Amino acid sequence: MKKDEVVRMCCVCRQRKAKSELIKIVKNKDGKFSIAEGYAEGRGAYICKDKNCIEIAIKKRALNRSFKCEVNKEIYLKLEKNCFGANAPRNDVKPSGVKLGSSKN
Ligand SMILES: [Zn+2]
Repeated sequence: MKKDEVVRMCCVCRQRKAKSELIKIVKNKDGKFSIAEGYAEGRGAYICKDKNCIEIAIKKRALNRSFKCEVNKEIYLKLEKNCFGANAPRNDVKPSGVKLGSSKN
């Protein structure tokens, strides 16, 4: 962790981490939610860039609690995509390190 880095709390595991290790979800003044890329204005909630935290956030709708309102499903779907890829199996997350395709040999 770099010096002077801003630290925020993950709304799932409540651990404090550098912002660069967190995904920020913001609610803009129109009440629309989005996943922030870089700096974003608006009220935000943070989740670790961690499979477990994201999974729990999706399962428990942790963002709804953070924002105290209904967060649309698309945000959760986006989180899921960001973390697991577009073709992520829902309940059958394969261990990482499984590589498809040709290997060097
Ligand atoms: Zn976390």
